[in-house]
Amino acid sequence: MVVTRFAPSPTGPLHLGHAYAAIVAHDMARAAGGRFLLRMEDIDRQRSRGGWDQACLDDLAWLGLTWDGLLYQSTRLPAYQAALDRLEAMGLLYGCTCTRGDIKAALSAPQGGILPSEGPDGLVYPGTCRGKPVTSGALRLDLTRAVNRAPHLEFTETGTRPGLHRIDPLQMLSEVGDVVLARRDMGTSYHLSVVVDDAFQGVTHVTRGEDLFEATQIHVLLQRLMGLSSPIWHHHALIRDDEGRRLAKRDDARALMTYRAEGATPADIRRMVGLG
Ligand code: GLU
Ligand code: ZN
Repeated sequence: MVVTRFAPSPTGPLHLGHAYAAIVAHDMARAAGGRFLLRMEDIDRQRSRGGWDQACLDDLAWLGLTWDGLLYQSTRLPAYQAALDRLEAMGLLYGCTCTRGDIKAALSAPQGGILPSEGPDGLVYPGTCRGKPVTSGALRLDLTRAVNRAPHLEFTETGTRPGLHRIDPLQMLSEVGDVVLARRDMGTSYHLSVVVDDAFQGVTHVTRGEDLFEATQIHVLLQRLMGLSSPIWHHHALIRDDEGRRLAKRDDARALMTYRAEGATPADIRRMVGLG
């Protein structure tokens, strides 16, 4: 059974890029007689305050999509805590009280002028707090210990970079670093909740924009550490505007509801994103 999902963060109107992502996931499930699920990634309560979830559901229904389940991440905090407890019991977490400024200072001090590198989780953390108790601050994954426990990682991609991808632990240490798994104000993070919920929802094929391709190694590692099965990955190209810029949610001019108000039909939207 093929199970796909569309997982928007309800922090603004859906735009053409979202329509594309939702249709790709929906059509893959429908073509296979499988299930298409929705997930509201609303762990950032501040940014998700605006009631955009309902507007998003309206847009998806207008597009003609149907779904077989809907999960709000804001209801899942106990599951994220259980996952953190499990990783902590394995000795893989530590507490970090660094600010972004602290991290920048620590990174730029010795190299003098060399720009700190940005990975799929932002600045590669220099490990200042490694070994600190988990009782304060954000929780980070001790990546050295983690890759030692899960050394041979690979994943299957069927989208933009098709094939079997082997994850290089050394490259991951230098390009990703000790990722934050729980922010103090949220009790979780994007990486942790996406992995816990894809497993909970039984997702077999993760379709999403290729901007998240580099994050996949983090997700595969977390799946292995927690004994969760790893889905097939299908990253797709991002829809860009006429100037080649990525469409951002704040770009209200490109919101689906704007096209709707101007009289576009769902078939027009499919054509505009190249899925007509
Ligand atoms: N919520 C994420 C976004 O809006 C997508 C997460 C995912 O597909 O893994 O970009
Ligand atoms: Zn720190």
